[in-house]
Amino acid sequence: MLNNLWIDLHVHTTASDGTFSPSEVVKHAQAKGLTAIAITDHDTVQGVAEAVEVGRLLGLEVIPGVEISVDHANKEMHILGYFIELDSPVLAEKLKELQSYRELRNPLMVEKLCSLGLAVTLEEVAAIAQGDIIGRPHFAALLVKKGYVVDKPTAFERYLAQGKPAYVKKEKLTPAEGIQLILAAGGIPVLAHPKYLLESNSPESLSTLIKSLKKLGLQGIEVYYSTHTTQEEKLYKKLANSENLLLTGGSDFHGDNKPEIFLGSGKGNLSIPYQLLSNLKELVLTRN
Ligand code: AMP
Ligand code: ZN
Ligand code: FE
Ligand code: FE
Repeated sequence: MLNNLWIDLHVHTTASDGTFSPSEVVKHAQAKGLTAIAITDHDTVQGVAEAVEVGRLLGLEVIPGVEISVDHANKEMHILGYFIELDSPVLAEKLKELQSYRELRNPLMVEKLCSLGLAVTLEEVAAIAQGDIIGRPHFAALLVKKGYVVDKPTAFERYLAQGKPAYVKKEKLTPAEGIQLILAAGGIPVLAHPKYLLESNSPESLSTLIKSLKKLGLQGIEVYYSTHTTQEEKLYKKLANSENLLLTGGSDFHGDNKPEIFLGSGKGNLSIPYQLLSNLKELVLTRN
């Protein structure tokens, strides 16, 4: 029954740094023949209600989600949360705190860019961001628009990536706090794109890290992801299975902010079966 039903559990909208509105994302998912998607915007759930409603009208399942950036050994790590309660007061309060960290960082990045001779204003960045969340992809888009760089990847390579001259570290939650937040909001915490952790960790230390995250309440690993190689997929699947963690998968669709990534199919390599979502749902049911 569930064969040949495809899903995408990692999708951004204009509520954070995607370029498709929540409604557009849902329509796009339906046009692509997907059965379900999860909206996982950075540090906000503002796009979820609209997506759920349009999904209801069109007959496409929309899972409420979020993607929280946390600090692991001074590197960024992302925790996805699925089936979160949108009206959770704890969630609202913490997301506001995360938003304030952006509001502290963003003007400092503008200052750094200006001192590098790139004339940008916070108003210009805000005009590119369509929602409340202003992120580095919006800075990248502005630098392209003003002709300072040829494309967005170059904006990150030259200025915005960690360690580059316009980078300003943003205050973040600890992994424990991020996982606790998702649990407190009734959600399932999942480690996003472990690939980026492998860049600074051996497979062995990744395994140790995952064990410690599990002790903190982690319940799944994003095994299927646009830029994971087949070999990496195997590794993450093995780690998930050995720790009895759920497997999830998603493209990390951002629309024109990551034009090489397609909804559902990633770089053309992804087909994520509905069964993974069934497993998540079963966990939600059995836990309550
Ligand atoms: P922020 O949360 O505002 O710091 O921005 C994070 C966003 O920037 C995420 O969507 C990342 O995908 C994107 N990002 C971070 N580093 C890079 C990079 N080196 N190249 C392209 N996008 C990046
Ligand atoms: Zn993003
Ligand atoms: Fe991420
Ligand atoms: Fe993401």
